Amino acid sequence: MNLKDIYKKNTKKPIISYEIFPPKDDINNQKLENLFFELKILKKYNPALISVTYGAGGSNRNKSIEIIKRIKNETSITPMPHFTCVSTDKANIKSYLNEIESLGIKNILALRGDMPTTGEVFNDFKHASELVEFIKSESSLSVAVAGYPEGHAEAESIQKDLEYLKNKVDKGADAIYTQLFFNNECFFNFVEKCTAMNINVPIIPGIMPIISYKSIQKMISLCNIDVPQKLADVIDKYKDNNDYIQQYGIEYSTKQCQELIENGIGGLHFYTLNKSDSTSQILENLNIG
Ligand code: FAD
Repeated sequence: MNLKDIYKKNTKKPIISYEIFPPKDDINNQKLENLFFELKILKKYNPALISVTYGAGGSNRNKSIEIIKRIKNETSITPMPHFTCVSTDKANIKSYLNEIESLGIKNILALRGDMPTTGEVFNDFKHASELVEFIKSESSLSVAVAGYPEGHAEAESIQKDLEYLKNKVDKGADAIYTQLFFNNECFFNFVEKCTAMNINVPIIPGIMPIISYKSIQKMISLCNIDVPQKLADVIDKYKDNNDYIQQYGIEYSTKQCQELIENGIGGLHFYTLNKSDSTSQILENLNIG
């Protein structure tokens, strides 16, 4: 099913989707098997889509495709590969598009990717909007793009970032998946501004359950996100008690999702971190799926 049809569904419940990533340093494919075990658990909540990340520069291209194939063959869930355009060229992108279309894939998340910090960068495309345009001209894939409720870390300004987001939609994107956020107000303001700019595709909030002190610190350092004071205090106070942090994270994301649902969002995209426990607990709490 393509993105337009997925989000056209006339249901009161939000459409559930998950993000997973190809495991690193996976001796004997043990982590991959564990991942598919976790997905079996998460399948219970009737996800419409599973997106699979892609290493900027194509470092895990083969693994990403292997996972996409397995999702397609072993579950009835629609897979959506991510794809980045940094450090690659049109010929390589075209061959990737042919490969995934030949597997029956209908959707792709088109990204620029993070710029490498070392070495020379060879790019046919500088921005994700150019990749969107290329994919639309070279394939029949439905395209999703990334959105940043609090602005992308490199953005000249929030307004400019929104204009560039609109450009991605004008080039043919059918849906926007957002970066994680912990302050719903930021998401609601973002949606309001998008609507005012005639960005009329589904905007799907990205929800990341907090699973440990270390993982949340890493995310905060990478992304431009507001951490409400109460949440920051709890994370800091219980930094040596990961069980408590995980439990608090489940409660926090549950409340976040409840408020988003009350405000009529069409979907929830969970950054699962390849684990089922927090995401499944949140979905149990929400009684959806
Ligand atoms: P763009 O939309 O190109 O924007 C990048 C920056 O350039 C922004 O600051 C924007 O304001 C600016 N910009 C855009 N157009 C122009 C223009 N015409 N002129 C001047 N400036 C412009 N990374 C990965 O490596 N692999 C993944 O699988 C992956 N998945 C992701 C999934 C989601 C849902 C999200 C939110 C992010 C993901 N990322 C992933 C991270 C993403 O690659 C980085 O945030 C990257 O730095 C920007 O990618 P983009 O597609 O948003 O880029």
